[in-house]
Amino acid sequence: MTRVAVIGAGPSGLAMLRAFQSAAKKGAEIPEVVCFEKQSDWGGLWNYTWRTGVDENGEPVHCSMYRYLWTNGPKEGLEFADYSFEEHFGKQIASYPPRAVMMDYIEGRVKKAGVRDWIRFSTVVRFVEYDAEAGDFTVTVHDMKTDSVSKQRFDHVVCASGHFSSPNVPDYPGFDTFYGRIVHAHDFREAREFAGQDILVVGSSYSAEDIGSQCWKYGAKSITSCYRSAPMGFNWPENWEEKPALVKVEGKTAFFADGSAKDVDAIILCTGYRHYFPFLPDDLRLKTGNRLATADLYKGVVYVHNPKLFYLGMQDQWFTFNMFDAQAWYVRDIILGRIEVPADKAVLLADVAEREAREEASDDVKYAIRYQGDYVKELIADTDYPDFDVDGACYAFFEWKKHKTEDIMGFRNNSYRSLITGTMAPKHHTPWKDALDDSMEAYLRN
Ligand SMILES: Cc1cc2nc3c(=O)[nH]c(=O)nc-3n(C[C@H](O)[C@H](O)[C@H](O)COP(=O)(O)OP(=O)(O)OC[C@H]3O[C@@H](n4cnc5c(N)ncnc54)[C@H](O)[C@@H]3O)c2cc1C
Repeated sequence: MTRVAVIGAGPSGLAMLRAFQSAAKKGAEIPEVVCFEKQSDWGGLWNYTWRTGVDENGEPVHCSMYRYLWTNGPKEGLEFADYSFEEHFGKQIASYPPRAVMMDYIEGRVKKAGVRDWIRFSTVVRFVEYDAEAGDFTVTVHDMKTDSVSKQRFDHVVCASGHFSSPNVPDYPGFDTFYGRIVHAHDFREAREFAGQDILVVGSSYSAEDIGSQCWKYGAKSITSCYRSAPMGFNWPENWEEKPALVKVEGKTAFFADGSAKDVDAIILCTGYRHYFPFLPDDLRLKTGNRLATADLYKGVVYVHNPKLFYLGMQDQWFTFNMFDAQAWYVRDIILGRIEVPADKAVLLADVAEREAREEASDDVKYAIRYQGDYVKELIADTDYPDFDVDGACYAFFEWKKHKTEDIMGFRNNSYRSLITGTMAPKHHTPWKDALDDSMEAYLRN
C-alpha cells in the first residue's frame, strides 16, 4: 500500500488530511496517511501557548501568535469552501474573529472529518532521506511521549511545517547593554506587559503593525516604529510615530537614521521569519524567500528536484486556509494518479520561472492579491475542491486594504459578505479598540 507522510498538523497539514478523507468518502481508495506533529495538539500556529523558547519537551516553541490576536484580514477571505463559519457556529459571525474563535473553526472541520487518528502528536520529525534505488523516503521521528526514535518508509512526503516560526533576529550596536527587554515577535505574548511603557517596534510589516496596535490597545504610553525601506504610512494615533531605520542603542536611547533619538523601555523585533527545515538534507530542502512564487516548486507545491516530495503553504500569504486547501486537493490528486506531473524537469523549472516573472512584473498590492487569487483558481480548476468566488475574496481584500487606510485602529469593525453562504456578517457588538475581553464567549455574544 502507498504510504504518505505529512509533516505538521497546522492548517496546511490538516488540509492534506481532509483532502484524502473527502476522496475516501466519495469511494476512492486512498493511501495510508500518517501525519507527524511535534505539538501535543493540532492547529499549528493557531494552537496558542504562553510558552516561549522551548516547549515541554525542550523543543523550540512553534507558536508565534499572541494573547490578543484577532485575524488581521477578513475571515471571508479565508473561509473553507467545504465548511462555512455558519455551519460551524450555527450562525453568521463578525468578520475579524479572535484567535480562539479561529482555532475552534479550524478544529471543527477536522473533527467532523474524523482524521485525528491519522496524527502522531508530540512526535518530532528529525530527518528525511530519499533512497533513489528504492524510490522512497525514510522518515526518522522522535516520539516524545515514549521518548523513542524510529524510522519509517514512505512513498511520498508532504512538508507542511509552516514558515512563520523560526525568527529572523538582527543584532544592533548597543543591544547587549540596553536597559530593558528586547523580544522578537515570535516570543511576544501579552500586550499588557508593555502598558505604560514607551515601546520601539522594529519593522514595517504585518507583525509591526499588529503588535504595535496591540500594545497601543492595551495601554502602552507611546509606540515608535521604524522602517528600513518605507513607512507603513497609516494614520496612526497621536502617540505613535514612525521613524527611519534604527542605527544603534545606548542605555535606553534608540538612535535612528535621520539623526533623531527616542528613549524607550522595550524593543520588539518584528523582523520576520525564515523558511527553516532542520530535518531536511540539502537535496530535499526548499530554499526560498518569503514570496508569492516560491523557488523550486512546480505549481507552488511539487519540489522540482524530487517530485515525490511536496510542500504546502510555503508562499507569502494573502490567501491562507482556502489556498492551503487548493494545494492539498491538488497534491492529493497527484498522489492518487488523477493529475500527472510532467516527467521532464525542464518543464517543471519553466513553470517556476514563469510564476516568478509574473510576480515580479508589478509591485502593486492589488496585482499581488489577484496573482494569488489566480493561483488558487488554477489549482481548484483541476480538482473537486468546491468552487467559490475567488474574485469576491480578492475584492474583500481590496476593501480591507481601503478600510485600513481609512482607520487603522477601526478597520476590524467592518463586515463582509460570505462568499460561501452569501450571508452578510453582523457588525461586532464592540469596536475592536474597546473589546479587551477577546474570549470566544465574549466574541460570540450577540
Ligand atoms: C503572528 C501571526 C499571525 C497570523 N495571522 C493570520 C491571520 O489573521 N489570518 C490568516 O489567515 N493567517 C494568519 N497567519 C498566517 C499563518 O501562516 C496561517 O494562518 C497558518 O497557520 C499556516 O498554516 P501551516 O499549516 O502552513 O503552518 P503552521 O500553522 O505553522 O503549522 C505547521 C505545523 O508543523 C509542525 N511542525 C513543524 N516542524 C515539525 C517537525 N519537525 N515535526 C513535526 N511537526 C512539525 C508545527 O508544530 C505546526 O503545528 C498568521 C501568522 C502569524 C505568524
